[in-house]
Amino acid sequence: MDRIDGLAHYRARFLGTDADADTANPRSYLDGNSLGRPLRASAERIAEFLEQDWGTRLIRGWDEQWMELPLQIGDDLGRVALGAAAGQVFVGDSTTVLLYKLARAAVDSRPRRTEIVLDNDNFPTDRYVLEGIARERGLTLRWIDSDPEGGVTAQQVRAVVGPQTSLVVLSHVAYRSGYLADMKAITDIAHEHDALVLWDLSHSVGSIAIELDHCDADLAVGCSYKYLSGGPGAPAFGYVKNDLQDVLTQPIQGWMGAQAIFEMGPGYLPATGIRRFMSGTPAVLGMLAMQDTIVMLEEATIESVRAKSVALTEFAITLVDEWLAPMGVTVASPREHTHRGGHVTINHPLMREVTKILWDNDVIPDFRAPSGLRLGLAPLSTSFVETFDGVAAVRDVLRGILLGRSGITASALPRSPENRAGPVGHGM
Ligand SMILES: *Cc1c(COP(=O)(O)O)cnc(C)c1O
Repeated sequence: MDRIDGLAHYRARFLGTDADADTANPRSYLDGNSLGRPLRASAERIAEFLEQDWGTRLIRGWDEQWMELPLQIGDDLGRVALGAAAGQVFVGDSTTVLLYKLARAAVDSRPRRTEIVLDNDNFPTDRYVLEGIARERGLTLRWIDSDPEGGVTAQQVRAVVGPQTSLVVLSHVAYRSGYLADMKAITDIAHEHDALVLWDLSHSVGSIAIELDHCDADLAVGCSYKYLSGGPGAPAFGYVKNDLQDVLTQPIQGWMGAQAIFEMGPGYLPATGIRRFMSGTPAVLGMLAMQDTIVMLEEATIESVRAKSVALTEFAITLVDEWLAPMGVTVASPREHTHRGGHVTINHPLMREVTKILWDNDVIPDFRAPSGLRLGLAPLSTSFVETFDGVAAVRDVLRGILLGRSGITASALPRSPENRAGPVGHGM
């Protein structure tokens, strides 16, 4: 399958994919949906930036190029991966902070409405931010009870959205199950009631062809360190539909979102357009690596990336059915690929233990309580062989535990350079 994969050659562009040459590299990295592998090009770009741009241009760099970078990268990302025309996307802050800014802006634009719609299986930060906003603004949270092995359906949204709804906040791809929500249908339902929708694209951007403009989405945020390989803690991106930009007011009014930044005026006047959603000085260093991914995605095309993603998840499910189902493992992701994003979650009561042993042996999926193991298959860096090896390792470790052998290690799994920290720390 790797041999006939038209995108297979992209794998070599990532650092750490050459497992034979360097024993520090994992044998199987199945967590590119939590922290994407770095591109070799980014290593060069960052070194060059330090020596040339920062090193020699110093403060002049702001005028020469850095001020525009958040909007330039936003436009590029919009064109390549988000289906968003220019002038609607910017890079800045973390996903959490952008969620706050855009959700607050949205509910403040509908002051007589009383409810925010969300679901109880969304990523914790999304739920926590909205709890805080509801408390601040005296709003009620209207919880959709989503299927942890599926996700929020259009029917469920229809059942709760009404004239009292100011905002609906959902993940495009559910972080747990990988469920792919129907962005168009759900956005349309919200709009029938003049409610706004804020989409969290953290687990879809870079693996799915997103069509924000076509879906008439209002607002979106997303993470750049997952499939976009922006690096740990790289800033997030925000999308605000053209028509809404000059209508909404965001709550963190800093100088970078002001009309005349360097006039240092006495009071805050927001910039027109997307810039008003910025707050403070952009994290230029943190924005460098994602540029290489955007260039690569444009070259590969997001449609081909999605096709490979579907092939990888189908392949993983086939292996799970064949090898793991007999041991009691179940697939906790949609089986129909039109409802599935780029990762597959599998359940078994022993998965916490399995993941720990896998990490100690350089096979890296991640664990989601209570019993889920997530196979994150980053389409441009993950090979079919790597997927095969990863699922085979899950099989061998689980079988070992079930047979009562607690210490299955290097003898069963070929390479074990060193023990690593446990797996449950900081997966996203
Ligand atoms: C990864 C992820 C985040 C991350 O938020 P940070 O502010 O970067 O910590 C937020 N929402 C979702 C749905 C995610 O998957």
